[in-house]
Amino acid sequence: MKNFLPRLALLAAATFLLTACPSEKPAENTSQPSASADQVKAPAFNADSAYAYTAKQVAFGPRVPNKPAHVACGNYLVAKLKQFGLSVREQPFQAMTFDGTQIQGRNIIAQYQPQAARRVAIFAHWDTRPFADNEQDKAKLNKPMDGASDGASAAAVALEIARTLGLQPEKMAPNVGVDVILFDAEDWGYDTGTQSNLKNQLEGSGDSWCLGSQYWAKNKVPANYKAEYGILLDMVGAKDGHFTREGTSLQNARSVVDKIWNTAAQLGYSNYFLFKDTDPILDDHVYTNQAGVPTVDIYDHPPYGTEFFPAYHHATSDNMSIIDPKTMKAVGQTVLQVIYNE
Ligand SMILES: [Zn+2]
Repeated sequence: MKNFLPRLALLAAATFLLTACPSEKPAENTSQPSASADQVKAPAFNADSAYAYTAKQVAFGPRVPNKPAHVACGNYLVAKLKQFGLSVREQPFQAMTFDGTQIQGRNIIAQYQPQAARRVAIFAHWDTRPFADNEQDKAKLNKPMDGASDGASAAAVALEIARTLGLQPEKMAPNVGVDVILFDAEDWGYDTGTQSNLKNQLEGSGDSWCLGSQYWAKNKVPANYKAEYGILLDMVGAKDGHFTREGTSLQNARSVVDKIWNTAAQLGYSNYFLFKDTDPILDDHVYTNQAGVPTVDIYDHPPYGTEFFPAYHHATSDNMSIIDPKTMKAVGQTVLQVIYNE
């Protein structure tokens, strides 16, 4: 995910409707939870399992494209999704990053109940940013980072949702099929805030972020893929995480935002899911929305102040020490509950 300057520039260029100018403070408390009807109870989301999947990915080392740890972790994710009984496809692709590196990427697409007509997509990115360019400690600036929350936690929550669904007997299956789609190369983008000393070789030719989702949006797998909506998970593992109602999500999938945030409130997770609307960011959901899947981004946003991202974002402090299973429980249980009430 990226800082707001390039993001706002790009979104403005793409003639997205911006509801707030960058100098304005994000809107506060523009909505409230609504009362619930009787809900179907989803199976329990196991946060310890999600924590273990996070730790396992981090233990491979930074999942930076072209590195052996990246290949090994990708193989691991594919193997786990197959083990859970999902139908798994891999989408290899090549791309050039802003610094001229030719990378070998791989999107991973796993389908639960592939025959179901009604579908919900769970998106996440599984790669790690190659450099801690937002690091405050000069000695660690641009060093490799673990990407425990930014990358691993979201893929881990998606894995645990897949495992939980795969365990259910047929009579306990939800009414919708679920697709776990893990994008590669989300996080090797050019950040004008921290990398103005570098040249963006992709300037004028395309967005340097979200290379995997951009590729998938142009070459969908499965072909002609459709889902009623998508839920993008990004940075969903940190202690005291907060999720706000992000602008691009509201523009494209407001009713789904309402459904998710109301469900979280009903489950008692309003301390994580804040009824606060915040400005658009550039993330994989920009491209999944363009691909026709109305998508909501659940990502960690500071609860107050003017920063778009928490302090660990693109810093070496994004390691297992900040990961809290309680945050993953709030996200995973909410998403499962939403799925089970379709
Ligand atoms: Zn990132």
